[in-house]
Amino acid sequence: MEINLTDGNVEEHVCEDDVLRALLGGRCLGVALLSRRRILADPLEPSSPVVVSVGAMAGTGFPLANRLTMVFRSPLTGTVAWTQTGGYAAYELARLGVRALIITGAAEKLSCLLIDSKGVSLVDAEGLRGCGAMETCSRLRQAYGDCRVLSIGPAGERLVKISTVVNDMGRASGVRHGIGAIFGSKNLKAIVLKSGKHDARKPHDTLRFARLIRKLHAKMASSNLLNHEKGLFAVHGTAIAAEAIGENHALPVQNYRRTWHTAFQEVGGHMLTSTVLMTRLTCSTCPVSCRRETLGKGLRGEGPDYAQISSLGTNCMLFDLDEIAYLTQICYEHGVDPIEMGNTLAVYADLSERGYVRPKLGWGDYGAMASLVERVADKEEVGEVLAEGAFETAKSFGDADAAPSVKKISIQNADPRAEHAWGLVNAVENFGGAAHVWVYPQLVKSFQSLGVETIHDDNPDAEKLAERVYVKQTQVAVLDSLGVCAFSALAFTWQDYAEGFTSFYGTVLEDDFTTLGEKILTMERMLNTLYGFSEDSDKLPKRFVEEPIPDGKHAGEVCPLNDLMRPYVKIRRDIGFSDMLSCLSFLS
Ligand code: SF4
Repeated sequence: MEINLTDGNVEEHVCEDDVLRALLGGRCLGVALLSRRRILADPLEPSSPVVVSVGAMAGTGFPLANRLTMVFRSPLTGTVAWTQTGGYAAYELARLGVRALIITGAAEKLSCLLIDSKGVSLVDAEGLRGCGAMETCSRLRQAYGDCRVLSIGPAGERLVKISTVVNDMGRASGVRHGIGAIFGSKNLKAIVLKSGKHDARKPHDTLRFARLIRKLHAKMASSNLLNHEKGLFAVHGTAIAAEAIGENHALPVQNYRRTWHTAFQEVGGHMLTSTVLMTRLTCSTCPVSCRRETLGKGLRGEGPDYAQISSLGTNCMLFDLDEIAYLTQICYEHGVDPIEMGNTLAVYADLSERGYVRPKLGWGDYGAMASLVERVADKEEVGEVLAEGAFETAKSFGDADAAPSVKKISIQNADPRAEHAWGLVNAVENFGGAAHVWVYPQLVKSFQSLGVETIHDDNPDAEKLAERVYVKQTQVAVLDSLGVCAFSALAFTWQDYAEGFTSFYGTVLEDDFTTLGEKILTMERMLNTLYGFSEDSDKLPKRFVEEPIPDGKHAGEVCPLNDLMRPYVKIRRDIGFSDMLSCLSFLS
């Protein structure tokens, strides 16, 4: 469905099963639709499109298939970008029979896009101007009843480059790259999805699909990570990563100056479960329930996930879950990406300590951090600089090397000097250094202590490691296009996903998963080339490759990026060429 917000024109196109067979949905469909337009305008120009697309399996009943993807050119990085969000929005859009929305233009006034069984309408939202993202969601739910809402806060309205879109009161983890500013540039306060009694599509082979679902539920029940009652990950949430990564001395600490701290257990999953946790939440068709609702300093809301714990928390030397939960809520309400915000504040505290900036921010000063989040959302005083993200903040104050950023977005979750495969994937990701450890758990050596099978288990050399990182990237690209939560890969096999697609749609994919993954990565690289990026952009900040870890288990280590890049680039060049030809022929 193409929606032009400038003139209100809506065009519907039938999405044949051929498109699904070739492109699945989610990330692949979104990137293909963006590629076909080849628009070079500034990302915040109204003509720049954002594609909101449903993963192929989302809304089918396949376990953990609930991802909605937004694909656009990022105002923060200038690269192609995609954000994935779980919850129930993808399910709702799939029930409305919509595979993708291509949104261009800008509404005359601040507006909401309402999509329901009657069609598409643009509703005046001037009354919501300045409202927090969660307040917006709750007011729209009061107005429209049972619906799903993607909303922005004041930061998005003011085109803050680190603003986010909040999905249903707080599901914004991983929604980075300034998507809030993209909505803001289109005068789009929210998208409201209301399927009502719309019938969902039925499986082609009901019995076969039901048999598969039973099998997958049995796999999750026997997983020591995903079992709802006993699984380490299910019971303690993503925050369990703080324990594994902290134990292995691979944590981001003090703006990545160090990789360990004695207090790491204070922000781990066990501590979260026994302190700030109010209740466990889930996404559609997921028995795992890794999402957390917490109470932080009297504010109740979703999170923090490990991503916020390691950015607003450990990287800012804040080891108090009550305060981290509070800061996470403040970020969501203002519509600011808590991950980039945390890492930007860590840069600012680092520069403060070294005398580069005023007013100063002390390490772990959560009150001052909270007021800086507000300054960012309002683009006031120093907030105007911080609103540009960690890289621009460091550069503006005279020390660009202080930012842990790749292609202007900060690395999260783990230090590449202690986690080398993590360094490589962040250097080469097409959307910059924004990979998430729980999307790539097999790349993180620290997770061996949680029982995750990682790519390091047989001590591979640099060549094998590089090859495995490339293969994992292709697999994640496919999962993002199927719309299945990445945690499913801790229990499911590739045959399971293929069986799900075939039994539901009654057809087989045009390509095998590896080829499709390679096509997705190639299309993204082609877009990045158009946007002015080259292989030279695939690098890590100096600190990770030149400054050894000062102390702890990995003292003296740097990330051997050059050793890993050589074989990686060779693989990518060899495969990428034939892919590029097939992508070009498809896109034409
Ligand atoms: S595992 Fe967690 S993030 Fe994934 S679908 Fe389930 S609740 Fe959502």
